Amino acid sequence: MPKIYLRAGHGGTSPGTTGNGLVEKQETLKHVLALAAALSEYEAELKLARTGDATVSLSASISEANRWGADLYYSSHVNGFSDSRAFGYESYIYTSPSAGSIRAQNILHPRQAAVWVRWGSRDRGMKRADFAELRDTVMPAILVEQGFISNPGDAGLLKQGSFLNELTSATVQGFVELYGLQRKGTVGKDPAAKTGKHLAAAGETLQTVAERYKLTVAELMLLNPHLADGVLLEGDIVYLTTPGELEKEFALLNRELLLCRKKLKEFQVIGSQIQSLSQQLT
Ligand SMILES: [Zn+2]
Repeated sequence: MPKIYLRAGHGGTSPGTTGNGLVEKQETLKHVLALAAALSEYEAELKLARTGDATVSLSASISEANRWGADLYYSSHVNGFSDSRAFGYESYIYTSPSAGSIRAQNILHPRQAAVWVRWGSRDRGMKRADFAELRDTVMPAILVEQGFISNPGDAGLLKQGSFLNELTSATVQGFVELYGLQRKGTVGKDPAAKTGKHLAAAGETLQTVAERYKLTVAELMLLNPHLADGVLLEGDIVYLTTPGELEKEFALLNRELLLCRKKLKEFQVIGSQIQSLSQQLT
């Protein structure tokens, strides 16, 4: 099980940046608590630098994560700037990052950035910096700046529950992809869940498959790009964990084969209708 260390930036006597009625230490805590709640449904070990408004120094967090042997150090912040026009999401890894940090940024950044962009903010890019949290942690580490508290637009998004929910699920999906996380309770109980895929039987829908494996339809559609039309055909392959590129390709080809068979059946019906008509005519 991967060990994920979550740090809500600042806290206690360190409020971080402020603006538009928001305080950074509260926003980072909100994000991390929502993330921890969502991740607790998965087979992952979590440790939080703080769960309330406590003063936890950077060095205390760094050494705690190092001692614990975390697989990832995730630090959440919110930007602030003197010019309120500055806005957008950005993420940081160390200036000479490990392969693990690069991979974490490559997976987590685009998913979070996409949510900011979809809600009208922008992606300021994947960045590198010599921050203590990134330099002194011995495991892959990423620091995210969730918008600008000083910008009315970004601050407005941080105040919206549905935006924050989307940000949380996008981040969870990132962690699922990073570590191939399994939902709790699905591992080992259902034979299909063990193999990570389900073969659709007649009458099954995305909804019934989602319920069976305690997933949501949205999650299934993210895991299965070949089911983007929302229709489940008998014989369709449904991946329950993140499929590899080859598996994705295979599922897509399998889907095309199913569609061809369906068409073939329709042609056979038309063929026999033509045959009986022509018999009546002769
Ligand atoms: Zn900060």
